[in-house]
Amino acid sequence: MMNKYRLMSPGPTPIPPEVSAAGALPIIHHRTPEFGEVFTRVNENLKRVFMTDNDIFTYAASGTGAFEGAVQNLFSPGDRVLVVNNGNFGERWVKMGRAFGLEVIELAYDWGQKADNDEVAEALATDPEIKAAICVLSETSTGTVNDIEGFARATENVLTVVDAVSGLGCCELRTDDWGVDVVVAGSQKALMTPPGLGFVSVSERAWRAHEESRMPRFYFDWTAAKKAYEKTPPQTPWTPPVSLIMQLDIALRQIMDEGFENALARHVLLGRAARAGVKGMGLRLFGPDEDMNTAVTAAWAPEGVDGKQLVRVVFEEHGIQIANGQGQMSGKIFRIGHCGYFDAYDIISTIAAIELALESLGHPVELGSGVGAAQRVFSKSGVTA
Ligand code: PLP
Repeated sequence: MMNKYRLMSPGPTPIPPEVSAAGALPIIHHRTPEFGEVFTRVNENLKRVFMTDNDIFTYAASGTGAFEGAVQNLFSPGDRVLVVNNGNFGERWVKMGRAFGLEVIELAYDWGQKADNDEVAEALATDPEIKAAICVLSETSTGTVNDIEGFARATENVLTVVDAVSGLGCCELRTDDWGVDVVVAGSQKALMTPPGLGFVSVSERAWRAHEESRMPRFYFDWTAAKKAYEKTPPQTPWTPPVSLIMQLDIALRQIMDEGFENALARHVLLGRAARAGVKGMGLRLFGPDEDMNTAVTAAWAPEGVDGKQLVRVVFEEHGIQIANGQGQMSGKIFRIGHCGYFDAYDIISTIAAIELALESLGHPVELGSGVGAAQRVFSKSGVTA
């Protein structure tokens, strides 16, 4: 049977047709009032999504590039930095910090466990030389969302840096209210735009750290980005990916039309339904069963079933692309992405396909058990009348 392709990974994620269409429009020149108008609107809408009045810079880079830029702009070699590591991306920031000559103090947790903010506060209290603390909002490798409000409180005396690559736009992140100095994000998750843009927001305190920082930098230099943005019309220092920015403009306008708080509430329901579906078919969740987990649902592959093979069968037999576990969890867990352009039927279809794939792999499952559980989440909410 012909299958439609459905992308249910936690990044890149599917994009609305209007966003695809915007990518086909003629390229406009980037040092013109026409581009300046689009770029200004994008920046203003990004501020709404980041919930900040801080500067935001947009780079032709994935999230890792924008993060590398943050390291270059904030620190000097030898600076002491605390990094929470409870998954693949926390681990990446440990490695990146060390690659740039930082003294990284790693606060490690088992994958799937949340950071303990009392331990964060304790680590900072015992080492007053620590200049910054880094944590991932939504750890995409495990589906676990860290409590960033508590993290920001625990780290209020140092720079607070948050990786919100998969969390921004689907997890609550009140950058200014909570006092987060630097937030890094990317275009390819809840912002419903193709991969290729990285973002960073920079607080007053982060600007002061930037002035003192002696790390070499050029492409990602925040001062260069700020100077270019303050020109008339606003621009970027180097050639921007014009089409991606035009696509992001449409995506952000769609998020504003939905209402940002409504978009966040939709993601709570999507996460709840995905978890109900997984549990309903008799599988075990990986990580906490919490409403905060709005970006990704991770679950253990059942005994005797290889997670990678399950992901493959869901794709080959049903056209639905879910994701394998990363790093140490490869083959053990599978992940359903729901950050971005997703609705109730994306979740219901995916749960249905996983049930069928498990049956086809010889694992006993009662067809409809997960689907019914997911449906009931939406039914209670009134999404499906
Ligand atoms: N941080 C998190 C939480 C992510 O999910 C990702 C990508 O999946 C990254 C960082 C890295 O971003 P990119 O792949 O855009 O460089």
